[in-house]
Amino acid sequence: MTAPKTETRTCLACGAVLRGRIDKKYCNDYCRNNYNNLQKQQAVPPSLIKDINNSLLKNRKVLASLLPEGEDTAKATKDKLLRLGFHFKYLTHIYTTQTGKKYYYCYDYGYLPLDNDWFLIVRKRSD
Ligand SMILES: [Zn+2]
Repeated sequence: MTAPKTETRTCLACGAVLRGRIDKKYCNDYCRNNYNNLQKQQAVPPSLIKDINNSLLKNRKVLASLLPEGEDTAKATKDKLLRLGFHFKYLTHIYTTQTGKKYYYCYDYGYLPLDNDWFLIVRKRSD
């Protein structure tokens, strides 16, 4: 496929290729309204929210899969976590113990970085 020489304009709201008048910016009124509303709200793009939510849920799933039922903790290497699709940049909160250890949580599952790229996987205890 080769790119067309003529300039292709796309809808500001949905990205669809536009045909017709040169000054057209949107497919239709629906897209125009959508775009204007988004501008007004300075909204986070819905796709971004969805991606981050999915990553957080995926992280939780990975941690849960590494922690056997009935066990309080488990250990895993960084490699293993990455192989399972864990994204270290996504977490819901950090818990710092009185001794200064930092547990990184994705909802009710978390991890504590250990030496040599090992991680201690934990489940939040309800108290
Ligand atoms: Zn459109």
